[in-house]
Amino acid sequence: MSKKLLLKDAHIEGIRYFETYRKQGGYEAVEKAFKMTPEEITEEVKTSGLRGRGGAGFPTGLKWSFLAKPEGVPRHLVVNADESEPGTFKDRYLMEFLPHLLIEGMIISSFALGAHDSYIYIRGEYAWITNILEEAIDEAKAAGFLGKNILNSGYDLEIYVHRGAGAYICGEETALLESLEGKRGNPRLKPPFPAVKGAWERPTVVNNVETIAAVVPIINITGAEYAKIGVGKSTGTKLISACGNINKPGVYEIDMTISVEEFIYSDDYCGGIPNGKKLKACIPGGSSVPIVPANLLLKTINGEDRIMNYESLADGGFATGTMMGSGGFIVLDEDQSVVEHTMTLARFYNHESCGQCTPCREGTGWMYRILKKILRGDGEMKDIDLLWDIQRKIEGNTICPLGDAAAWPVAAAIRHFRDEFEWYIDNPESQTRNYGMSNYA
Ligand code: SF4
Repeated sequence: MSKKLLLKDAHIEGIRYFETYRKQGGYEAVEKAFKMTPEEITEEVKTSGLRGRGGAGFPTGLKWSFLAKPEGVPRHLVVNADESEPGTFKDRYLMEFLPHLLIEGMIISSFALGAHDSYIYIRGEYAWITNILEEAIDEAKAAGFLGKNILNSGYDLEIYVHRGAGAYICGEETALLESLEGKRGNPRLKPPFPAVKGAWERPTVVNNVETIAAVVPIINITGAEYAKIGVGKSTGTKLISACGNINKPGVYEIDMTISVEEFIYSDDYCGGIPNGKKLKACIPGGSSVPIVPANLLLKTINGEDRIMNYESLADGGFATGTMMGSGGFIVLDEDQSVVEHTMTLARFYNHESCGQCTPCREGTGWMYRILKKILRGDGEMKDIDLLWDIQRKIEGNTICPLGDAAAWPVAAAIRHFRDEFEWYIDNPESQTRNYGMSNYA
């Protein structure tokens, strides 16, 4: 079993509440951090090798060091809890069962960044978790860990929870900041980056829930010890939300040294595929990363075991590998249709496009309509090339990564499962479902 740093106490009854969390050693990292300087905390995070757990995997300590510090201008920490990536539900688990772990991580991180007003931007659909977080914030404040002069340190901090309104695009950090400011959640052109001009044009660090929670064990055990867990640049532990055709869907904490095969088939994790079915493919990092067929998923292009970490999953680039992404691990068995899955994702991205960029606004709609056309039995062979052409014209030509996220699943599906697209076109009479009746049915 992998070492547990984040979820080690998740099974304890009442761990959601301050008293129980504190009894398990909760908030000791805050006490330790307040004996350090903000620079020392940032150095620990850099030493740990912690990478952003939201999807991009950017080094967290480095991101913090980019934060501009103009005299007299407030700075902010914004926690991105807008977890809307299909297949990803690990932040929900963290916030629901361990809200004080997030708050503790926010106190330490805000102190390191010099922020006095910090925010949790949470997706609107997580309404009940908003209540859990607000209750935990009240408890932490009553215990003297939030508010004025925390632990007599002279440091003040308030944490606010802000609910989104159900738009996937608000998970993109600049769209999130627009929404936080009360505007429509349209992504901004970068530069300037949020570290220079973020919320209300003030320097802002936006980090994922899991990233900020991981700061707690880093301070507790030191960055150097954290860096010893895992392998290469995949240090520490990672939460994976596993779903699809597996026996044991759920949230698992892994130390990024186990193989993909072990993760899927071991009883410690996914427990194999139901009814003895064969593994067909997997989307290992949330819906935005490329789908991988079973043979390339379990072995790298060099024939070695593929490991559940940033480097190994990306081995071979987009041609054969995929990405760790957000850790949303979606397993497809032999009965699943990749074309159907691709259409479902195309529909999602078309629906969620904010519409600012023509390639994304128009291209996602075209891809969705062509995929529906193929699935309802009206497809032509030239449609496959057209799909390929459209995704190429979207990738890299948009303001924010949603364009790439919409293009990659289509590209990977055609690259690895072209014969399946051809089968649908060659066998139009096999179609039993009506994909033409409704836009989003
Ligand atoms: Fe909006 Fe899509 Fe452009 Fe992102 S890529 S800004 S979602 S239109």
